[in-house]
Amino acid sequence: MMKTLSSGNCTLSVPAKNSYRMVVLGASKVGKSAIVARFLNGRFEDQYTPTIEDFHRKLYNIRGDMYQLDILDTSGNHPFPAMRRLSILTGDVFILVFSIDNRDSFDEVKRLRKQILEVKSCVKNKTKETGEFPMMICGNKSDYGEHHRKVRAEEAERLVSGDENCAYFEISAKKNVNVDKMFQVLFSMAKLPNEMSPALHRKISMQIGDTFHQKSFRLRRLKEVDAYGMVSPSARRPSVNSDLKYIKSKVLGEGQGRDREKCSIQ
Ligand code: GDP
Ligand code: MG
Repeated sequence: MMKTLSSGNCTLSVPAKNSYRMVVLGASKVGKSAIVARFLNGRFEDQYTPTIEDFHRKLYNIRGDMYQLDILDTSGNHPFPAMRRLSILTGDVFILVFSIDNRDSFDEVKRLRKQILEVKSCVKNKTKETGEFPMMICGNKSDYGEHHRKVRAEEAERLVSGDENCAYFEISAKKNVNVDKMFQVLFSMAKLPNEMSPALHRKISMQIGDTFHQKSFRLRRLKEVDAYGMVSPSARRPSVNSDLKYIKSKVLGEGQGRDREKCSIQ
């Protein structure tokens, strides 16, 4: 199945098997949006802007194949638990963030990890090559000195030990420490092309992106650089209704009746 995307006068076709959703979760003010901003445009802002729920889309042309990565940057305090369940159900890869200077935010990551495992226990992601749901745990704000630290690295490492679908990285979105490495490991756990990480593709603007999908563009440019990425300027979060349809077609349609009951959104 091909999905057709329109962005201005640009129309791109991405096969459903190459479309992924990355969900970023964690307490508020731990740096979720800062990590997403690093990923999308390499920038960092000191100012805090509360997120309700932000949706971004990045499109890639990697060795001639189109990929789409949707990013859901969630709010730390979920007033609607059903919405969080829905976000988890639609996610293919997860980033769980805490701040190394905040013990409560680490406890929240532990809760979130449990919830993801529980919500996803009924889901067999048969449409994707990955059967599991890779999770990256990030201890952010590593630029704070050791005297601010409230969570030891070993504690977080213990949380992921023995789970090949989960890894821990200490990062600083502010100083851009370890961020790219973290994305590379996440994409490799998810069996996604490594070139999806910011350092490994050439960023292009929408204007050039208009020719992104043309065969001539692919053939002409392939020899020079293999991977291109472009942030879609007009991405809007799909409606709850389309999320539900997506889950139904991707997961429940293939499950047993018993699984359907376990997968309730509420
Ligand atoms: P969110 O609520 O989890 O999305 O958090 P934000 O990304 O909005 O960041 C909350 C605050 O922490 C902002 O003032 C950021 O500038 C700051 N911040 C984010 N990442 C870092 C970091 O790596 N180091 C430091 N020192 N501050 C950060
Ligand atoms: Mg935010």
